[in-house]
Amino acid sequence: MPERTLAIIKPDAVAAGVVGEIIAQIQQAGFRIRAMKLVRLSAEQAGAFYAVHRERPFYAELVRFMSSGPVVPMVLEKDNAVADFRALIGATDPAEAAEGTIRKRFGRSKGENAIHGSDSPENARVEIAFFFAESELVG
Ligand code: UDP
Ligand code: MG
Repeated sequence: MPERTLAIIKPDAVAAGVVGEIIAQIQQAGFRIRAMKLVRLSAEQAGAFYAVHRERPFYAELVRFMSSGPVVPMVLEKDNAVADFRALIGATDPAEAAEGTIRKRFGRSKGENAIHGSDSPENARVEIAFFFAESELVG
């Protein structure tokens, strides 16, 4: 049974018009898109999604940024999806991300880093359920 992960193309990348390029890179890397949508998060929703970072100094700015414009959440499926997707997106800070990774190509800063990827299969399940009903996994 292939693994699932949650990706979110963040507001900076949507605004920059690079959604298509990012999706192309994800599909070329062998991920199957099971579900995808364009949504605008409220500050409350963005805060809930990143609740684990509530006490961090960057939390308020993260919530402001993630609710600043539309995002593209998607459910991706592949063997070893969580770890392989983290490798595809690269380090949190685009300046430290490996050449060719999505964050290296499209990220602007440690905060505005183009894309999110779940960090464990357990968190992937929780994050997928945040955005999608099981019936929306149509791909
Ligand atoms: N972030 C930030 N400043 C930091 C660390 C993180 O603005 O010093 C933002 C950034 O958008 C990051 C998100 O908070 O993607 C979640 O942080 P995390 O440490 O979970 O990084 P990720 O798992 O996204 O690589
Ligand atoms: Mg994280």
